[in-house]
Amino acid sequence: MSGAPPVGRFAPSTTGRAHPGTLLAALLCWLDARSRGARVVLRLEDLDPDRCRPELATGMREDLAWLGLDWDAVTLQSAQRLHHEAALDQLAAAGVLYPCRCSRADLRKHAQRAPDGGFRYPGTCRSRALPATGWRNSKDSLRVRLARGELRLRDESGLDLSQDPSAGFGDPVVRRRDGAIAYHLASVVDDASAGVTRIVRGRDLATTTATQIRIQQQLGLAAPTYRHHFLLMEERGGKLAKLHGAVDTSTLRSEMSASALVGFLAWAAGLRPTEAATTPAELLPAFEWNHVQPTDRKVTWTSPKLTLCDDAARRPRSA
Ligand code: GLU
Repeated sequence: MSGAPPVGRFAPSTTGRAHPGTLLAALLCWLDARSRGARVVLRLEDLDPDRCRPELATGMREDLAWLGLDWDAVTLQSAQRLHHEAALDQLAAAGVLYPCRCSRADLRKHAQRAPDGGFRYPGTCRSRALPATGWRNSKDSLRVRLARGELRLRDESGLDLSQDPSAGFGDPVVRRRDGAIAYHLASVVDDASAGVTRIVRGRDLATTTATQIRIQQQLGLAAPTYRHHFLLMEERGGKLAKLHGAVDTSTLRSEMSASALVGFLAWAAGLRPTEAATTPAELLPAFEWNHVQPTDRKVTWTSPKLTLCDDAARRPRSA
């Protein structure tokens, strides 16, 4: 084992204001890192030109600081373009980068389901070649030809993430038609260049892990340790969906104090017996993953209060 300290990261997309689920994920990531003396970096994922705006990146930083979280470094993913392009050069040199003209409608037509419920890419353009003048001159989106084969994989919480990503999702887009670098590639390249060794994130991203590890392997990058945690859910149209939309941080900040919100999140996470106000720093000494709630929690927002409304919330707890 190397003597280098572990490095964690929180990597929110700056496509909207933070919501309670974002703040829970940030808090757990920060507690994980700080409780083991790790460095922890905030990476603002701002690559989607249609949805990201600079003021949302600034707002995200402010919301996390308001909650009481601090970072050893803050980076904008858009500033890492040269690293992303170097990885595309490497994939092109290895002969695994190819242009793809398929639209979302084409994928829907093939109707092959991916593990996350979306549509699998069926490999239609897999044998196409890059322009002779290089990938930069392609007007199409670019995909990486993933090596085939099952990855046997469990995250640190024991969650089984085994998958053949080539069969499950198909080859991912790594550069979009509009030139934007796509999530999987940017994420693994930035984790490696920041020396990230621990990835703590919500379970909604668990099915992406095998694809990301396969890309790391094809780029010769080390795989960090992964841990996926429970989500805050709300009832929408009779189904449970990620708590999004119901309330964002601009409303939360005007109606709750940061310490009341941390108290609620810590209680929902199983870290404290009541929702009494607290701070991230106060949670640190007793933080352990085996105290953290293993399954998703159901929450409602009725101004000015978040309420837990699942069966676990109704069971009395000892202090
Ligand atoms: N930016 C992604 C999101 O906000 C998360 C990336 C990650 O943690 O890998 O959903």
